[in-house]
Amino acid sequence: MISLENVLMMTCIKSPQLSAPMSRGIFSKEDALGVLALVQSKHKLGMLVLQSKIAGDDAATSKLNRTASMLLIQRGFSEVIARGMAFLATREVCGVPRCEVCHGTGERLSRRYSKMFECQACHGTGKILLTAANLAVQLSTLTGQNITNRVFHAAYYDDYMDIINELHSAETAASYAIREKLELTFEQMEVS
Ligand SMILES: [Zn+2]
Repeated sequence: MISLENVLMMTCIKSPQLSAPMSRGIFSKEDALGVLALVQSKHKLGMLVLQSKIAGDDAATSKLNRTASMLLIQRGFSEVIARGMAFLATREVCGVPRCEVCHGTGERLSRRYSKMFECQACHGTGKILLTAANLAVQLSTLTGQNITNRVFHAAYYDDYMDIINELHSAETAASYAIREKLELTFEQMEVS
């Protein structure tokens, strides 16, 4: 049985040659495209999340940014704010970037004690912590506005989390649908 990750990688432009040998026959890129096409119509948003997150598809990431941005504009945010929030939300759902302080290692060398210590900026996780305070700073940078922690909490945080939840649910629904279609396809391949 082929994995969801494999199907997405096979159909990504970056890896056109991949195909998966099966016990009978070969699951080709065309087969993978066929499965995704069936899911695509019903799960547009979820497919974008998967393509961006798993296959690293930049076009999908841009579309996701635009879609999330539109959802936020519909909720009454200005275009500048909506774009900034959409960028942060997409980034949170599709892959959190490395901590800039420790470069992803989670540790920092203390010159004074010549010893490694847990990185304080990311609490040793190696990834940027997505606290409301951090998000407020990042949204300020993205929009060129001064958004304090308090303002972020009061005016943006709930909608930000709603968008995150919407993207996560869409992702779950799309992966479920792909797995279901894959099982069907393989049952048919094994029989024929
Ligand atoms: Zn760090």
